[in-house]
Amino acid sequence: VISQKKMSSSKKMINVLMVSPTLQGHLNPTLNFAKRLASKGVHVTLAIPEETPHRFQNLNTQETNSHHHNNNPSKIQLEYFSDGLSIDHDRSKDPATFIASLETKGAENLSNLMTHLKKNDRSFSCLITSLFMPWSVDVAVSHGIPCAVLWPQASALFSIYYRYVCNANHFPNMENPNETLQLPSLPMLRVRELPSILLPSCPPYLKKLLMDFKPILDKVKWILGSSVYEFEEEILNSMASLRPILTIGPLVSPYLLGQKESEDSDDLTANLLRPEDSCLQWLNDKATSSVIYVAFGSLMEFSQKQMDNIATALKNTKKPFLWVITPQKGGAELPQGFLEEIKERGLVVTWCPQAKVLMHPAVACFVSHCGWNSTLEAVTAGIPIVALPNWLDQPTNAKLVEDVFKTGVRMRIGEEEDGVASAEEVERSITEVMEGPMAEEIKMRAVGLKEAARKAMVDGGSSDRNINRFVTEISGKFT
Ligand code: UDP
Repeated sequence: VISQKKMSSSKKMINVLMVSPTLQGHLNPTLNFAKRLASKGVHVTLAIPEETPHRFQNLNTQETNSHHHNNNPSKIQLEYFSDGLSIDHDRSKDPATFIASLETKGAENLSNLMTHLKKNDRSFSCLITSLFMPWSVDVAVSHGIPCAVLWPQASALFSIYYRYVCNANHFPNMENPNETLQLPSLPMLRVRELPSILLPSCPPYLKKLLMDFKPILDKVKWILGSSVYEFEEEILNSMASLRPILTIGPLVSPYLLGQKESEDSDDLTANLLRPEDSCLQWLNDKATSSVIYVAFGSLMEFSQKQMDNIATALKNTKKPFLWVITPQKGGAELPQGFLEEIKERGLVVTWCPQAKVLMHPAVACFVSHCGWNSTLEAVTAGIPIVALPNWLDQPTNAKLVEDVFKTGVRMRIGEEEDGVASAEEVERSITEVMEGPMAEEIKMRAVGLKEAARKAMVDGGSSDRNINRFVTEISGKFT
């Protein structure tokens, strides 16, 4: 591995192309990795479906400047390609049509964009893509450039999917939620703790993405994981001889890593809704480690019963809380009179600056769906998690939080409860993390992982070294 200095002094600019689907959970790590690469002198072109800036705040700047270590400006440039559907087409209503259109029209348009950029002197050393867009790997191959996958989830999840699609291990009957599975270096998992994409109830369009996984793995040179070696050491070691993962995370806001006083207003970020910054002032008036922060990411839809149970639990804890309720079409509503009843003790917003909230000294714990970004952000901020997972990778992440990271607890939901946590269980698990017999140990573990996350990302840390290695390899000097 060549040193940072040697790499920066290289005259030839390295160009990479990144693509990301229009999903909050993918855009955030993609943008954070783009900034990280730009800080190492790499020129990043980020190609996103053209509907993206219409669905996300902030992403309308054509380009942004990120600064190189020794102050050479190096750019992240945004480019758009059409997925073949009109801008106002509601993609969430019919994801199968949307994904099929991306695969055909999207692939063609991305390829045309690359041809156009090449004519304008922008040729790429590498395409960094998402397994949500498996077709993009073939586009890279047709343009003769190597491909990396940015894996925005836990390495444990990669390990499970890999072992499943490559038949590396025997998987139990997925019809029975109580069957168990023991994979190398992972805690024993019940079927209901596996990612929902493996279950019979998974919609066919998601199953297809999983099945596309295997053929494209052969065409991909690097798997770049938004995780930290020290968080998942055993899992990563167990994958080293099968399919190594280069951990380059946590790909979270630099603010969470203590690398910045605040987020710059011209920073390239994406937000599903405009964040309500006023919640930070509200937090300022609260005592240290007193507030329950409640948020379930960008996609979660609740039943009315679950919403009612969370509301009752928060009321009964008598503790201050900040609750993000993102409006969903036909979604559940707060019980009548709730806001009047809780008065100043609770604040409900539609979207918040989550990185800043988690770093606020008033926040004590995070009631979360355990999307991987939220999980990493909580861990990086040293905040204990109270997990209420729903689907996709969330149930497995919640298991990791409780049994591997040991930085939080999962809510227990009985077979007869239809996936809904009772008000008593929500309250019990919050209390357990905040003041139960394990509370202090959980907090200490959280603070320990926070330090490990920061160490991984500074010069010479495990993730920083992996990023340097990747940059060296795409520059072609050592391959
Ligand atoms: N987020 C935010 N403000 C909110 C709620 C969420 O900025 O009020 C961000 C959060 O910081 C995270 C992302 O949205 O980076 C959600 O990603 P995650 O993987 O946790 O969940 P998903 O939305 O993919 O289910």
